[in-house]
Amino acid sequence: MHEISLVQGLVQQLKELAAENQATKVISVTMDIGPLCGVVVDSFQFGFDIISAEEELMRGAQLIVNVPPVRYTCTGCGDVLITAGPRPDCCPKCQELALFPEGGDDLILRQVEME
Ligand SMILES: [Zn+2]
Repeated sequence: MHEISLVQGLVQQLKELAAENQATKVISVTMDIGPLCGVVVDSFQFGFDIISAEEELMRGAQLIVNVPPVRYTCTGCGDVLITAGPRPDCCPKCQELALFPEGGDDLILRQVEME
């Protein structure tokens, strides 16, 4: 489960941010997790819960996950489908299987609330 190491990296980043801002507590963390970035949101949440229980800075912190939509362009008819859900199996218009995705592979720390 590589989400744990991603959460560890995130916590490291938050520690540095907290030190810069003289904060002692993280209230909430907002992340953008693209549906194509290879991160399972549930696993990320699970890792976050484990690590935030261990770290004084993170105790009780809330993780807010945004799933940004992906834009799929059909290589057959050029139709565009925008969804934050699972990757569509085929084009709804022409049943072409090759859909070209744009975006959705980002893992971004969007906002942090500290005190
Ligand atoms: Zn199509």
